[in-house]
Amino acid sequence: MDTDPVLLEVRNLVKHFPITRGMVFSQQIGAVMAVDGISFTLRAGETLGLVGESGCGKSTTARLILGLIRATAGQILFAGRDILTLSKAEMLKVRRDIQIIFQDPYASLNPRMTVQDIIAEPLEIHQLAKGIQKEQRVRELLDVVGLNSYHGRRYPREFSGGQRQRIGIARALAVKPKLLVCDEPVSALDVSIQAQVVNLLQDLQAEFGLAYLFIAHDLSVVKHIANRVAVMYLGRIVELSSKEDVYQNPSHPYTKALLSAIPIPDPAHKRKRIVLKGDVPSPIHPPMGCRFHTRCPQLMDVCKTLDPKWHPINPGHEVACHLFVTNG
Ligand code: SF4
Repeated sequence: MDTDPVLLEVRNLVKHFPITRGMVFSQQIGAVMAVDGISFTLRAGETLGLVGESGCGKSTTARLILGLIRATAGQILFAGRDILTLSKAEMLKVRRDIQIIFQDPYASLNPRMTVQDIIAEPLEIHQLAKGIQKEQRVRELLDVVGLNSYHGRRYPREFSGGQRQRIGIARALAVKPKLLVCDEPVSALDVSIQAQVVNLLQDLQAEFGLAYLFIAHDLSVVKHIANRVAVMYLGRIVELSSKEDVYQNPSHPYTKALLSAIPIPDPAHKRKRIVLKGDVPSPIHPPMGCRFHTRCPQLMDVCKTLDPKWHPINPGHEVACHLFVTNG
């Protein structure tokens, strides 16, 4: 995996949404700092879990990578090209390689279209197949995601949540992408169905060599699918490591708190729950110093004024926290 080429590289990515006042002479009076200088890489065939509470900037990151919104600053290199500098026509070509699976499969499927038309739509947009070829490809895709060809004639409302997510996956796979951005793809599903969809995604990754940016609000789902994990808090990544390291040796106090919330099935191995006080501060006025300092159980004076730098824990495991600098 470490030798596979880097497919996606995000460098110091920033997205500030301006807050304006006035209708005629509108004036910027502030900004929502949704994403504030994040960097990470994703290799071909790899899964990076991007985890954090709602409002931390995960979905904004996804929308930036998909080109749905413009970045304020930074770079997004896909297969070596900075996609933020591409024209609309060039971006449309790149979008073939980067597809998305949404959280709410029902909302993402047009209720007036049959399943076969939904799956065929990206083939038409990118002019990849028509006529019998297109019908054949749709049948193939239905089969790949575990549905039957007769399902193609039905409408999204006739399916369960798990089946709808399979339709969404088939649509995303239609154009043979290299990267799937999975934006909380199982959060809206029952636990038993979640496992089926995660297993399907793993099988598809093995078969087609796909890379996944897998977004989730807790660490439990990501555990089963990610190779590496990036933990996000208030627009920043605070810990980045292999999955094994993040679960066995979590270092950032926020990661520890997220991990402590995962229930352990064996009652003999109880984990002490770390309950964070207060809410996530507003991204309009993020706290000075470490952004987590208003909720951190291990707060020190330095945390209130100084932004923590990245500190290596192990090869491939880094954390942004003053604890490690202070304790050597
Ligand atoms: Fe907590 Fe300080 Fe580390 Fe921030 S830098 S996580 S406030 S110990």
